Amino acid sequence: MVRIGIFGGTFDPIHVGHLVAAVNARHALGLDKVLMVVANEPWQKVGERAVTPARDRLAVVEAAVASCEGIEASSIEVDRGGVSYTADTVEELRRASPDTHLYLVVGADVVGGLDSWERLDAVRSTVTLVAVNRPGARSVELGPDGPLSAWRAVSIEMPALEISSTDLRCRAATGRPLDFLVPDAAIRVIRERGLYALDR
Ligand code: ATP
Ligand code: MG
Repeated sequence: MVRIGIFGGTFDPIHVGHLVAAVNARHALGLDKVLMVVANEPWQKVGERAVTPARDRLAVVEAAVASCEGIEASSIEVDRGGVSYTADTVEELRRASPDTHLYLVVGADVVGGLDSWERLDAVRSTVTLVAVNRPGARSVELGPDGPLSAWRAVSIEMPALEISSTDLRCRAATGRPLDFLVPDAAIRVIRERGLYALDR
Protein backbone atom coordinates (compact mmCIF):
# COMPACT_ATOMS: atom_id res chain seq x y z
CA MET A 1 0.00 0.00 0.00
CA VAL A 2 1.26 3.45 -0.90
CA ARG A 3 1.98 5.63 2.13
CA ILE A 4 1.68 9.38 1.73
CA GLY A 5 2.49 12.08 4.26
CA ILE A 6 0.47 15.29 4.29
CA PHE A 7 2.29 18.19 5.93
CA GLY A 8 0.14 21.29 5.89
CA GLY A 9 1.21 24.79 6.75
CA THR A 10 1.09 28.44 5.90
CA PHE A 11 4.82 28.22 5.12
CA ASP A 12 5.19 32.01 5.35
CA PRO A 13 8.03 31.27 4.61
CA ILE A 14 9.09 27.61 4.63
CA HIS A 15 12.20 26.98 6.75
CA VAL A 16 14.52 24.11 7.62
CA GLY A 17 12.38 23.20 10.66
CA HIS A 18 9.62 22.23 8.24
CA LEU A 19 12.00 20.38 5.96
CA VAL A 20 13.73 18.43 8.72
CA ALA A 21 10.31 17.43 10.06
CA ALA A 22 9.18 16.25 6.63
CA VAL A 23 12.34 14.30 5.89
CA ASN A 24 12.32 12.61 9.29
CA ALA A 25 8.64 11.70 9.08
CA ARG A 26 9.24 10.15 5.68
CA HIS A 27 12.22 8.20 6.95
CA ALA A 28 10.75 7.05 10.27
CA LEU A 29 7.47 5.85 8.73
CA GLY A 30 8.76 4.65 5.37
CA LEU A 31 6.52 7.07 3.47
CA ASP A 32 6.68 7.06 -0.31
CA LYS A 33 6.42 10.83 -0.30
CA VAL A 34 5.50 13.78 1.86
CA LEU A 35 3.34 16.53 0.37
CA MET A 36 4.00 20.04 1.66
CA VAL A 37 0.45 21.35 1.42
CA VAL A 38 0.46 25.15 1.23
CA ALA A 39 -2.66 26.65 2.83
CA ASN A 40 -4.52 29.05 0.56
CA GLU A 41 -6.26 30.99 3.33
CA PRO A 42 -5.23 29.61 6.70
CA TRP A 43 -8.40 30.03 8.77
CA GLN A 44 -6.38 30.37 12.00
CA LYS A 45 -4.33 33.27 10.67
CA VAL A 46 -6.70 35.24 8.45
CA GLY A 47 -7.59 38.53 10.07
CA GLU A 48 -4.71 38.30 12.53
CA ARG A 49 -1.92 39.38 10.25
CA ALA A 50 -1.20 39.92 6.56
CA VAL A 51 -0.41 36.57 5.00
CA THR A 52 1.86 36.51 1.93
CA PRO A 53 -0.07 35.66 -1.28
CA ALA A 54 -0.53 31.90 -1.60
CA ARG A 55 1.09 31.60 -5.05
CA ASP A 56 4.23 33.30 -3.71
CA ARG A 57 4.41 31.01 -0.66
CA LEU A 58 3.87 28.02 -2.96
CA ALA A 59 6.67 29.11 -5.32
CA VAL A 60 9.07 29.40 -2.38
CA VAL A 61 8.08 25.93 -1.13
CA GLU A 62 8.56 24.48 -4.64
CA ALA A 63 12.07 25.90 -4.77
CA ALA A 64 12.86 24.63 -1.27
CA VAL A 65 11.92 21.02 -2.01
CA ALA A 66 13.12 20.81 -5.62
CA SER A 67 16.30 18.96 -4.71
CA CYS A 68 14.79 16.93 -1.88
CA GLU A 69 13.92 13.35 -2.80
CA GLY A 70 10.45 12.27 -1.71
CA ILE A 71 9.28 15.70 -0.58
CA GLU A 72 6.88 17.53 -2.91
CA ALA A 73 5.06 20.85 -2.91
CA SER A 74 1.28 20.46 -3.22
CA SER A 75 -0.97 23.15 -4.70
CA ILE A 76 -4.17 21.26 -3.80
CA GLU A 77 -5.40 23.94 -1.37
CA VAL A 78 -4.21 26.88 -3.48
CA ASP A 79 -5.99 25.41 -6.54
CA ARG A 80 -9.17 24.81 -4.54
CA GLY A 81 -9.10 28.45 -3.40
CA GLY A 82 -10.94 29.99 -0.48
CA VAL A 83 -10.41 29.07 3.12
CA SER A 84 -8.28 25.96 3.56
CA TYR A 85 -9.57 23.16 5.72
CA THR A 86 -7.53 20.02 6.23
CA ALA A 87 -10.77 18.00 6.17
CA ASP A 88 -11.35 18.99 2.51
CA THR A 89 -7.76 18.16 1.61
CA VAL A 90 -7.67 14.72 3.20
CA GLU A 91 -11.07 13.87 1.68
CA GLU A 92 -9.87 14.97 -1.76
CA LEU A 93 -6.67 12.95 -1.46
CA ARG A 94 -8.64 9.96 -0.18
CA ARG A 95 -11.03 10.14 -3.17
CA ALA A 96 -8.12 10.43 -5.61
CA SER A 97 -6.32 7.39 -4.16
CA PRO A 98 -8.63 5.17 -2.12
CA ASP A 99 -5.92 2.57 -1.47
CA THR A 100 -3.41 4.97 0.02
CA HIS A 101 -2.48 5.15 3.67
CA LEU A 102 -2.53 8.85 4.58
CA TYR A 103 -0.37 10.27 7.37
CA LEU A 104 -1.03 13.79 8.61
CA VAL A 105 2.13 15.37 10.01
CA VAL A 106 1.79 18.13 12.61
CA GLY A 107 4.18 19.87 14.96
CA ALA A 108 3.58 19.45 18.69
CA ASP A 109 2.29 23.05 18.95
CA VAL A 110 -0.62 22.16 16.67
CA VAL A 111 -1.80 19.12 18.65
CA GLY A 112 -3.42 21.16 21.43
CA GLY A 113 -5.60 23.04 18.93
CA LEU A 114 -6.94 20.06 16.98
CA ASP A 115 -10.32 20.18 18.72
CA SER A 116 -11.11 23.47 16.98
CA TRP A 117 -10.57 22.02 13.50
CA GLU A 118 -13.39 22.01 10.97
CA ARG A 119 -14.96 18.53 10.53
CA LEU A 120 -12.46 16.93 12.80
CA ASP A 121 -14.21 13.55 12.60
CA ALA A 122 -13.58 13.35 8.87
CA VAL A 123 -9.90 14.02 9.42
CA ARG A 124 -9.66 11.55 12.29
CA SER A 125 -11.28 8.75 10.34
CA THR A 126 -9.10 9.29 7.28
CA VAL A 127 -5.54 9.70 8.53
CA THR A 128 -2.95 8.52 10.98
CA LEU A 129 -1.70 11.55 12.87
CA VAL A 130 2.06 12.02 13.10
CA ALA A 131 3.17 14.33 15.91
CA VAL A 132 6.63 15.89 15.62
CA ASN A 133 8.46 17.47 18.56
CA ARG A 134 8.89 21.23 18.50
CA PRO A 135 10.75 23.51 20.93
CA GLY A 136 8.36 25.49 23.09
CA ALA A 137 5.56 22.94 22.76
CA ARG A 138 4.81 20.20 25.25
CA SER A 139 5.87 16.76 24.10
CA VAL A 140 2.91 14.80 22.85
CA GLU A 141 1.47 12.13 25.13
CA LEU A 142 0.17 9.20 23.07
CA GLY A 143 -1.38 7.10 25.85
CA PRO A 144 -5.11 6.58 26.58
CA ASP A 145 -5.20 9.72 28.74
CA GLY A 146 -3.41 11.90 26.19
CA PRO A 147 -4.91 14.41 23.74
CA LEU A 148 -4.69 11.94 20.86
CA SER A 149 -6.44 8.99 22.49
CA ALA A 150 -9.23 9.11 19.87
CA TRP A 151 -6.76 9.10 16.99
CA ARG A 152 -4.62 6.60 15.20
CA ALA A 153 -1.44 8.41 16.13
CA VAL A 154 2.31 8.01 16.24
CA SER A 155 5.05 10.39 17.23
CA ILE A 156 8.41 10.86 15.61
CA GLU A 157 11.53 12.61 16.83
CA MET A 158 13.66 15.17 15.05
CA PRO A 159 16.53 17.35 16.24
CA ALA A 160 14.94 20.28 18.09
CA LEU A 161 15.10 23.33 15.82
CA GLU A 162 13.92 26.54 17.39
CA ILE A 163 12.89 28.20 14.15
CA SER A 164 9.55 29.73 13.22
CA SER A 165 8.24 31.60 10.20
CA THR A 166 7.19 34.39 12.56
CA ASP A 167 10.79 34.84 13.65
CA LEU A 168 12.02 34.67 10.04
CA ARG A 169 9.58 37.40 8.95
CA CYS A 170 10.83 39.51 11.82
CA ARG A 171 14.46 38.81 10.89
CA ALA A 172 13.87 39.81 7.26
CA ALA A 173 11.99 42.96 8.26
CA THR A 174 14.87 44.04 10.47
CA GLY A 175 17.54 43.32 7.86
CA ARG A 176 18.92 40.14 9.39
CA PRO A 177 19.88 37.18 7.14
CA LEU A 178 17.76 34.08 6.52
CA ASP A 179 20.74 32.11 5.23
CA PHE A 180 20.88 28.47 6.35
CA LEU A 181 17.48 28.85 8.03
CA VAL A 182 15.81 28.79 4.60
CA PRO A 183 17.34 26.81 1.68
CA ASP A 184 19.34 28.90 -0.82
CA ALA A 185 17.03 28.12 -3.72
CA ALA A 186 14.06 29.34 -1.67
CA ILE A 187 15.87 32.55 -0.68
CA ARG A 188 16.49 33.21 -4.37
CA VAL A 189 12.75 33.02 -5.07
CA ILE A 190 12.03 35.26 -2.07
CA ARG A 191 14.39 37.84 -3.59
CA GLU A 192 13.04 37.46 -7.15
CA ARG A 193 9.50 38.03 -5.92
CA GLY A 194 10.44 40.81 -3.52
CA LEU A 195 8.93 39.04 -0.49
CA TYR A 196 9.42 39.86 3.21
CA ALA A 197 11.32 43.04 2.29
CA LEU A 198 14.46 40.89 2.49
CA ASP A 199 17.69 42.95 2.23
CA ARG A 200 15.77 46.21 2.15
P1 ATP B 1 4.25 30.78 12.12
O1 ATP B 1 5.26 31.29 13.10
O2 ATP B 1 3.88 31.77 11.07
O3 ATP B 1 3.06 30.08 12.75
P2 ATP B 1 5.55 28.22 11.74
O4 ATP B 1 7.03 28.23 11.78
O5 ATP B 1 4.81 27.73 12.95
O6 ATP B 1 5.05 29.65 11.29
P3 ATP B 1 3.61 26.94 10.09
O7 ATP B 1 3.46 27.11 8.62
O8 ATP B 1 2.64 27.58 11.02
O9 ATP B 1 5.11 27.39 10.47
O10 ATP B 1 3.69 25.40 10.46
C1 ATP B 1 3.40 24.34 9.61
C2 ATP B 1 3.64 23.05 10.38
O11 ATP B 1 5.03 22.91 10.67
C3 ATP B 1 2.94 22.98 11.74
O12 ATP B 1 2.47 21.64 11.93
C4 ATP B 1 4.05 23.30 12.73
O13 ATP B 1 3.83 22.74 14.00
C5 ATP B 1 5.24 22.66 12.04
N1 ATP B 1 6.52 23.30 12.39
C6 ATP B 1 6.89 24.58 12.14
N2 ATP B 1 8.12 24.84 12.58
C7 ATP B 1 8.57 23.70 13.16
C8 ATP B 1 9.80 23.36 13.83
N3 ATP B 1 10.78 24.26 14.00
N4 ATP B 1 9.92 22.09 14.31
C9 ATP B 1 8.90 21.21 14.14
N5 ATP B 1 7.73 21.47 13.51
C10 ATP B 1 7.55 22.70 13.03
MG1 MG C 1 2.74 28.04 13.16
